[in-house]
Amino acid sequence: EGAVNRIAAGEVVERPASAVKELVENALDAQSTRVQVDISDGGRTLIRVTDDGHGIAAADLPLALSRHATSKIDGSDLLNVHSFGFRGEALPSLGAVGRLTITSRATGSDGAAMIHVSGGRIDPPKPAALRAGTVVELRDLFHATPARLKFLKTERSETMAVTDTIKRLAMAEPGVSFILRDTSDGGDRVVFRADAAATLADRLATVLGRDFAANALAIDAERDGVRLTGHAGLPTYSRGNAVHQYLFVNGRPVRDKMLTGALRGAYMDVLSKDRHPVAVLFVTCDPTMVDCNVHPAKTEVRFRDAGIVRGLIVSGLRHALAGAGH
Ligand code: ADP
Ligand code: MG
Repeated sequence: EGAVNRIAAGEVVERPASAVKELVENALDAQSTRVQVDISDGGRTLIRVTDDGHGIAAADLPLALSRHATSKIDGSDLLNVHSFGFRGEALPSLGAVGRLTITSRATGSDGAAMIHVSGGRIDPPKPAALRAGTVVELRDLFHATPARLKFLKTERSETMAVTDTIKRLAMAEPGVSFILRDTSDGGDRVVFRADAAATLADRLATVLGRDFAANALAIDAERDGVRLTGHAGLPTYSRGNAVHQYLFVNGRPVRDKMLTGALRGAYMDVLSKDRHPVAVLFVTCDPTMVDCNVHPAKTEVRFRDAGIVRGLIVSGLRHALAGAGH
């Protein structure tokens, strides 16, 4: 079981940012309104995610750590999931690659409990002190697998990847407040902060800056049951790289070649080849029209009819650009 967990863990947890993604998604799935992430040494020595969500009952803590145990689907319909998680793999994977401690208090429960797992070995749960919500602490990621440790980049670039992950989730959930702190060497430097926002536009102003809001077009288009919303930067507000392209499918941040290709295609006539648009786009469709289950980290998607989605992006954005005189 330990070895199996370690092999599968490699698919889900490549670097601190992938652990942060899983833990913050769990916090969001628990209906949290506030998510705090603390990292030390780029997340290598510490990742701590604190939320104010519905928590985990003491009796369910061991279950949360066992493979393929998820509270988020009933097993009847994998495709109709509206939560971020649904595989029940993240926590067991994290417990296989680091020292994991979960402290939680379920709403309505009269006490909190904690459980610790390291190297796949689970200690029995114990009573703990916590007012509400959940704190998941992952220490010494990859401590037992030096080969994987070697693949981590500098502290600076791991911190940047963690920040990017949190920014994407912050765009997906504007109403939730997020804070990322760097607690290296006993410090507490705020790396990123977004207070709960009333609208996506307000959240984007925080994450991408007021400039983006002033230089972007609101997008709202539909075709064959697929909807495209969000904000797309004017050609004059383009970049030398594509890092500021944020794509979401049914509320989940994704990285997908077809979608970025469609985005490029939409701007083909108004941007030179070495310029890239800044854009935040949400594709929303019936869950049966898209498979988000392609990759364990769930950032790749497969549409049943990619042509519809590509066409919607190209025509929706071109229409908006033309309307603005481009
Ligand atoms: P999944 O998210 O796919 O269900 P995970 O391994 O990420 O699987 O989590 C296992 C289970 O632990 C979840 O289904 C959920 O019931 C519980 N859980 C994990 N994190 C939290 C959290 N922050 N708040 C409440 N419950 C949580
Ligand atoms: Mg999860």
